[in-house]
Amino acid sequence: MAATMITLQPNPNGEGARSLDPSVDHEIQAIVSGRLVAETCSTDLAAEPWNFDSRPGYGPGSSMGDVIPTGAPRQGELPAEYRTASEQELAERIRRAKATLGDRVVVLGHFYQREEVVTHADYVGDSFQLANAAKAHPEAEAIVFCGVHFMAETADLLSRPEQAVILPNLAAGCSMADMADIDQVEECWEQLAEVLGDLDTPDAEGLLPVIPVTYMNSSAAIKGFVGRHNGIVCTSSNARTVLEWAFARGRRVLFFPDQHLGRNTAKAMGVPLEQMPMWNPRRPLGGSTEEQIGDARVILWHGFCSVHRRFTVDQIAKARAEHPGVRVIVHPECPMEVVDAADEAGSTDYIRKAIEAATEPTVFAIGTEINLVQRLAAEHPQHHIFCLDPVVCPCSTMYRIHPGYLAWVLEGLVAGDVRNRITVPADVAEPARLALERMLAARP
Ligand code: SF4
Repeated sequence: MAATMITLQPNPNGEGARSLDPSVDHEIQAIVSGRLVAETCSTDLAAEPWNFDSRPGYGPGSSMGDVIPTGAPRQGELPAEYRTASEQELAERIRRAKATLGDRVVVLGHFYQREEVVTHADYVGDSFQLANAAKAHPEAEAIVFCGVHFMAETADLLSRPEQAVILPNLAAGCSMADMADIDQVEECWEQLAEVLGDLDTPDAEGLLPVIPVTYMNSSAAIKGFVGRHNGIVCTSSNARTVLEWAFARGRRVLFFPDQHLGRNTAKAMGVPLEQMPMWNPRRPLGGSTEEQIGDARVILWHGFCSVHRRFTVDQIAKARAEHPGVRVIVHPECPMEVVDAADEAGSTDYIRKAIEAATEPTVFAIGTEINLVQRLAAEHPQHHIFCLDPVVCPCSTMYRIHPGYLAWVLEGLVAGDVRNRITVPADVAEPARLALERMLAARP
């Protein structure tokens, strides 16, 4: 990528300098080249993704525990013309390909995607908003999803069968989604049945022993599992409504993959922590006793987001000390102590709307992915908006969607070549859709 000048100016409090360029890539390049004094979680971030795509793990900035599962799709090497093109050349080629394709293609960009990609998106949003945007374009032959693997799968579930959903880089998985592997979940279900009896038969009061609930950030195979076992999908916006739906139908909930979203939501509903045992798939009965499983209200899968677990209570204390009156908003994928210490917790959409609704100049400290925070800061210069984590560390899996891959798939479509199509097999798709439909029908 060509080095690019970044715009630096003092923040509204006159403290130091911060970038009003929403591009996290430019900021990382400036840090690594010494033009900006700040810290990144890995200097590797300044390299293009094809330099680390072939390595094990999820790339620079991912946690030590984030290992790509065996059998996960891997991206072949991008042709040299895309690897060596400048940022400006790639942007021009993407624009040209999109103009040629017209309504035949819809490009979707997740909130956490790099600015150099989001700038070409027809829609920007969270995973579910984007899947619905895909659904709103039945005329499009192809949907290019600039996000991660499970998001492209969800778009495939909700789009027409003839439409091709394309993930520009197949190595863009999600470490959290991959923490709930379908074989481990099936094994967990069998172990729960040994303790709780037949899991598909309701008791005298019409309640099932366990209702499985999966976060949207999970594979289609897990969504299908949930659909087959009377369960449901949730998002970070509707997790409470979905848990209420589940408690109306079952004695307890098995929640995966994100322990933090499950714990934070259930705790806010009054479920005691003692009734939320963790299920570690590497230990017998998840590491709990039969009695703990019997008493449980929510069994939490041992999963987490490596981006959101970086946020700490100390960061919040520092923000409050340095900015009296600061409004701290964090994502519910953050650990419980962080959510408790914040002023508010909510989904990416909640955070965006909270900032848009603020009429007076406000200082916001935000606990979510840096690309979104940086974009919000650039869009709302009347506020001082900063990321709680002082280290520049984007989601390492989203980061694999470089403009080079976007240009490659779009020019492939122009040439009649559908590259990197994501297809959910029919036997998985049917129950997965059922689990999604239950979520859409669930009402507070
Ligand atoms: S931010 Fe976390 S949950 Fe979202 S794609 Fe990245 S690793 Fe997965």
